[in-house]
Amino acid sequence: MSSNKHSVVIVGYGGMGSYHTQLIKECGRLEVAGVFDLLEERSLAAQEAGLTAYAAFGDVLADPAVETVLIATPNDVHKDIAVAALRAGKHVICEKPVAMSSSEFKEMTAAAEQAGRVLMVHQNRRWDEDFRIVKEMYEQETIGSLFRIESRVHGANGIPGDWRHVKAQGGGMLLDWGVHLLDQLLFMIDSPVVSVSGSLSFILGNEVDDGFEAVLEFGNGIQAVVEVGTTNFITLPRWYAKGLEGTAVIEDWSLTGRIVTRNSDSEKREPTPIRAGVGLTKTMAPPSEGATITGALPSAAELPSSFYDNFVDVIEGKAEPIVKNAEVLRVQNLIEAIFAAAEQRQTLKDFDIYEPQTISI
Ligand code: NAD
Repeated sequence: MSSNKHSVVIVGYGGMGSYHTQLIKECGRLEVAGVFDLLEERSLAAQEAGLTAYAAFGDVLADPAVETVLIATPNDVHKDIAVAALRAGKHVICEKPVAMSSSEFKEMTAAAEQAGRVLMVHQNRRWDEDFRIVKEMYEQETIGSLFRIESRVHGANGIPGDWRHVKAQGGGMLLDWGVHLLDQLLFMIDSPVVSVSGSLSFILGNEVDDGFEAVLEFGNGIQAVVEVGTTNFITLPRWYAKGLEGTAVIEDWSLTGRIVTRNSDSEKREPTPIRAGVGLTKTMAPPSEGATITGALPSAAELPSSFYDNFVDVIEGKAEPIVKNAEVLRVQNLIEAIFAAAEQRQTLKDFDIYEPQTISI
C-alpha cells in the first residue's frame, strides 16, 4: 500500500461490507486493501468496484500488508474469523452482534489480549443523532429527570434476507436491532440494571424472533421499554420519554419531534373536563391553557470522533475505544438475560451483579 493510510480487508462483502467501503473512504485515515467473500458473485462485485478480491481467507491472513480485518459476515462465523485474524497479528473490527454468545465473545477478547491486537465492535448507533438528543435530554435534564424511556424501531417488511431467518446463523431481531437499542440505553444510563423482563414474537412463523419487547429497570429509577417489530404497518415513535417536568417525542430518523414542558409561570388552574367517548373526564383532559410550553428538540452533543477515526486513534495508541469491550459484553449478557426472561416468562432481578464486568480490554 503506497499511502500512509492503515490497510483494511473486508471479510464478507454483502450489504454492510460494501457500505463499510464507502464509510472508510469518507474517514480518510483507512484504506480498503481488498475484500474476501465466499461467494464468487460478491468477489466479482468487489472487482467491479475497483477492489482486490482475495481468493482465500488464508491469503488475507498471510498478507503482511494487511493491518486490520473488518468482519461483515453473518453472525455465526464472526468468532472464528476474528480469532484467526487476531492470531495472525491483525487488528479486528467486527460487526454487531459481535458473536452468538457472551462465551464466544470472551474467546475473541482473550485472543486479542494474547495477540496484543485491537478488537473493536461496530456498535455504530451510539452515533445516531436521535439517540444523542435523548442522551442530551437525560444528561441536561431538559424535561426534568427522566423516569421512563421508550425506544422503538418498527418495520413492515418482515425479516429481510436469508441467514437472518436462521437460528444457527444468529438470526432474529433481538440479536439484530436489539444490540443497537440496548447498547444505546446502557451507554447512556449510568446505573445498574436491576430487573429485566421480555417477550419475543414469532408472528411470521420463522424459527427466530421477528420482534421483541424488553422492559428494563435501572437502579436510578428509570424504566425503559425497548421494542422491535417487523409487522408494523403503522409505526409508533422512535423515542418517547417522560421526565419530571415534561414529555418528549422523536418520531423518526429525520428527527421530527417536540418537547412539552410544564409552564411554571402560569397560574395553576384545574383542567376543564372533556367528553371522551361516551364519558366525561378531567384526568385525561388536555392541560389548561398556558399550563405547558411546546418547544423544539434540543441539539445533540457530538461524540469525540467517528467510529473509524476512533479506531485509528486506538491502533495508533492515541485514544481509548469509544465502544469498549466490557460494554459490548454487558450488551451481550443483557441479550442473553432477555432470551432467558422471555423463555421462562419471568422477571430477572439484579442483572448487573450476575457477572461483574471483568474483561480488561
Ligand atoms: P449480507 O448477507 O448482506 O452479507 C454477508 C456476506 O458475507 C455475504 O456476501 C456472504 O457471502 C459473506 N460470507 C458469509 N460467510 C462468509 C465467510 N465465512 N467468509 C467470507 N464471507 C462470508 O449480510 P449483511 O446485512 O451485510 O450483514 C453482515 C453483518 O453486518 C452482520 O453481522 C449484521 O448483523 C451486520 N450489520 C450491521 C449493521 C450496522 O448498522 N452495524 C447493519 C447491517 C448489518
